[in-house]
Amino acid sequence: MPCPAATEDSRHLKGTGASRGIAFGRICFLRHKPRTPRKYQIKNPDQECERLERARQHAITQLGALYEASLEKLGEQNAAIFQIHQMMLDDPDYVQAINLMIRTQKVNAEYAVDIVGKRFEQQFINSDSDYMQGRAADVIDISRRLTEILMMHAGSLKHKSSPLHGKKGPLLIATDDLAPSETVQLDPANISGILTSGGSERSHTVIFARAMGIPAVICLGDKLIPELENHEAIIDGLSGEVIIDPLPTERRDYRERKLTADAQNAHLEDFRGRPTLTRSGRKIALYANAGSLGDLELVRAADAEGIGLFRSEYLFLCEQDYPTEERQFEIYRDLLSGMEGKKVIIRTLDIGADKTPDYFMLKHEDNPAMGLRAVRLCLERPALFKTQLRALYRASVYGKLAIMLPMISVPEELKRIKKICAEVRASLRRHNVKIADHIEFGIMVETPSAALLSDLFAPQVDFFSIGTNDLTQFTLAADRQNGALGGYFEGDLRAVLRLVELTVKNAHQCGIWAGVCGEMAADERYLPRLVQLGVDELSVVPSALLRTRARIATLG
Ligand code: PEP
Ligand code: MG
Repeated sequence: MPCPAATEDSRHLKGTGASRGIAFGRICFLRHKPRTPRKYQIKNPDQECERLERARQHAITQLGALYEASLEKLGEQNAAIFQIHQMMLDDPDYVQAINLMIRTQKVNAEYAVDIVGKRFEQQFINSDSDYMQGRAADVIDISRRLTEILMMHAGSLKHKSSPLHGKKGPLLIATDDLAPSETVQLDPANISGILTSGGSERSHTVIFARAMGIPAVICLGDKLIPELENHEAIIDGLSGEVIIDPLPTERRDYRERKLTADAQNAHLEDFRGRPTLTRSGRKIALYANAGSLGDLELVRAADAEGIGLFRSEYLFLCEQDYPTEERQFEIYRDLLSGMEGKKVIIRTLDIGADKTPDYFMLKHEDNPAMGLRAVRLCLERPALFKTQLRALYRASVYGKLAIMLPMISVPEELKRIKKICAEVRASLRRHNVKIADHIEFGIMVETPSAALLSDLFAPQVDFFSIGTNDLTQFTLAADRQNGALGGYFEGDLRAVLRLVELTVKNAHQCGIWAGVCGEMAADERYLPRLVQLGVDELSVVPSALLRTRARIATLG
């Protein structure tokens, strides 16, 4: 069947490559048919609220099973979304609002869930907090789950058979955006790729697709027309190209590209268990980024030589109240002992900007990325910071800990923080608590100021780790959360590279090491330059580790 408008242009669509890989398949639309529940009056609100409660418990159980099923597939950090959904289903505001509507308006539970879900979605969208805005899709996801359970129990909805049921793959799923729970249930054996009209590189769909190794092209907008259903296509999750009804020559070309990519992946296994060396034999420490204990498995499986960035704030984002010193200690201890003597660089809290747990009660800021975040917040709330430091120092005897401070911009901050650290250590020693003899202490260089003053910072620390994500945002004055500015992060990064050069030079002049832990470390376009500039360490997402080691072996 020819493509609806089979001109050369309409056959070649361009979106954003979001999960790398080449996929062939038949386009299959996964439509989110709005299952709007019918509204009807009920006689017994108590009974209706009980029905709601049963459905809610059922949904929580379903989510628990989804969490367990995703742990292995996606790692704890990704699977945690289902725990967040469970917490949302337990949220008293949400539950009470539904019960109240049932009681006051005497309406059926599924209708109340639908209306309340939409109201919460709107509130989240209108929120000042990026984190809360990000939860809008989640409240719709949980409300849909609850509504479907209620409708299924009432017999008004047949048992939900997957829209993909009976469709033979390989399929390229096309949709507006996938809910996290939908993405994780995709079977990679039947689904070769994902196409979305919306989405963002930071969406859960993309994070999950990457973790599951499914190529994805997002942001296709209205080019993803329903008439494409059942058409054969090829997608390239790196370049963002989509070819509809590919010609035999195009098929051949992409098949070859895929074979080359697959062969490269197979050859990556040769790099397992080997040190990371450039062609001339210079050793680079190749570490992995992590955010939770569950990531340990991914880090170990990736053959990382250490953890170069542990984003400690993830724990705070998953909790509903401040994690205690004991809870933090246990996590750091298990992380350090789990890495069996390999270095673990734990970044102190980087809360603020897009990471704003409700219980922190942060004040509204017009520019939160440049606001009271990370070490600035820790200095403002020393008790919070001291709790984390105590947990870190206590855990230090269980492995090879290094502590790293995010968002440092001026030496005065470092001075104040070092004073707090010394106080905490002294107080622990007074109580006979054992602390490791040597704990490396470094700063992230992720503000232009830190890079420009790196000669002043270098004598005061053991290492620099360059956070190119924020460094790019601040150097190019391009908000990293703004999808419309994505091009700035892909394009001309010479200014950022100059700051990297200066930082590495100042580090080496002072005899300390410098690494990169932002996304640039895993980006093949910039890796040769970073290696040429003499970086000593790179910390990348676990899935990019062997590829990075193999690439380094071909450089300088
Ligand atoms: C960075 O800014 O480059 C970085 C690694 O930190 P994060 O992405 O967590 O802000
Ligand atoms: Mg950062």
